[in-house]
Amino acid sequence: MTINDYKFAGKKAIVRVDFNVPLNENGQITDDTRIRGALPTLKHILEEGGALIIMSHMGKPKGKVVAKYSLKQIVDAVSAALGTPVQFAEDCAKAAEQAAALKAGEVLLLENLRYYPEEEGKPVGIDKEDPAYEEAKKAMKASQKEFAKTLASYADCYVNDAFGTAHRKHASTAVIADYFDADNKMLGYLMEKEVEAVDNILKNIKRPFTAIMGGSKVSTKIGIIENLMDKVDNLILCGGMTYTFAKANGGEIGKSICENDKLELALDIIAQAKAKGVNLVLATDCVAADDFCNEANTQVCPSNAIPEGWEGVDAGPESRKAFAAAIEGAKTILWNGPAGVFEFDNFAAGSKAIAEAIATATDNGAYSLIGGGDSVACVNKFGMADRVSYISTGGGALLEAIEGKVLPGVAAIKG
Ligand code: AMP
Repeated sequence: MTINDYKFAGKKAIVRVDFNVPLNENGQITDDTRIRGALPTLKHILEEGGALIIMSHMGKPKGKVVAKYSLKQIVDAVSAALGTPVQFAEDCAKAAEQAAALKAGEVLLLENLRYYPEEEGKPVGIDKEDPAYEEAKKAMKASQKEFAKTLASYADCYVNDAFGTAHRKHASTAVIADYFDADNKMLGYLMEKEVEAVDNILKNIKRPFTAIMGGSKVSTKIGIIENLMDKVDNLILCGGMTYTFAKANGGEIGKSICENDKLELALDIIAQAKAKGVNLVLATDCVAADDFCNEANTQVCPSNAIPEGWEGVDAGPESRKAFAAAIEGAKTILWNGPAGVFEFDNFAAGSKAIAEAIATATDNGAYSLIGGGDSVACVNKFGMADRVSYISTGGGALLEAIEGKVLPGVAAIKG
């Protein structure tokens, strides 16, 4: 079922959203992006004459009631965003009566799902090494099903709009879907957009396809790099991982960040790219600094000839040109991870060059997807957020999807 086809009139919809918003010490929301992200779905259901039961997690209370993670703190903000009063259920697993009393157009927000260990479904208070762990895990899986069934009993249909947790097989993100038939469960608008964005770079690829992977380490990106290797035309590997590649090739990298146990892996990636005809673009020059701070002395040098005591902190001018050349002609672009320590203004030029090239390519008709916290922060820092095609809201979920993994939250609905 799709959210546009479903007839919500007179129905109660239980909607999993990601309202895990950052709060300050006074319990005030410091960034409401996630609430705004869910509004199209929530408003659509209300406008169509449905009643809403909204559920989410907040923070990591680890299966216990922890006041600072109470969703009660955001009731007023949700109410203001929806433009209608929001009722609150103090206990998400004991909300049957409140849910039953809901009328069309009314909204009930459930307390933090993760106050119950059943939400995540991991046994608590028992070590993985403990011989009784497997039994405890089985028992927890059984009570997770009961918990999901209780949540499901509140509503006629289930909508999942929490992309940020779509890579988790939790009670509210996946298990609950077993208690609704295919005609009564669907993805929300945000999830639909995220799934479409991933399809655009993994399935419906317009060529040439350029992927830019940056950030600090190759080890955390290897799954994605390997999955993309079969799909991309150009692969730019930048940021801190540059120096693992430079060292693997026999270069001198000073005190640059380097994963010494990944040198073989770096050589293997170079060989794979060659074998698969992928144009691998590595940073040939860099901005090196004599300290890890914005005011450090800098010099431009080859990425494989960095003087002793200096470290590569950004892509050099030659590399920036090579990156831009591989990006500007592309028709599909994926960017994850900065090209340097962009948090310091003096080391942001490489990341800025990438953001500008992506904006230009997008102006020329390319599809561009930006995902993963830091590259999103980059496009925001350079004021280019509205010049790219799509900015993903889901860090871990997006990365797992691009690695080619099936997301349990999506599979539970789409099969
Ligand atoms: P990741 O979480 O792996 O995507 O890495 C993001 C972080 O990588 C950012 O905080 C950047 O400051 C950092 N980074 C990028 N380039 C470098 C570099 N050359 N040396 C150290 N850190 C870097």
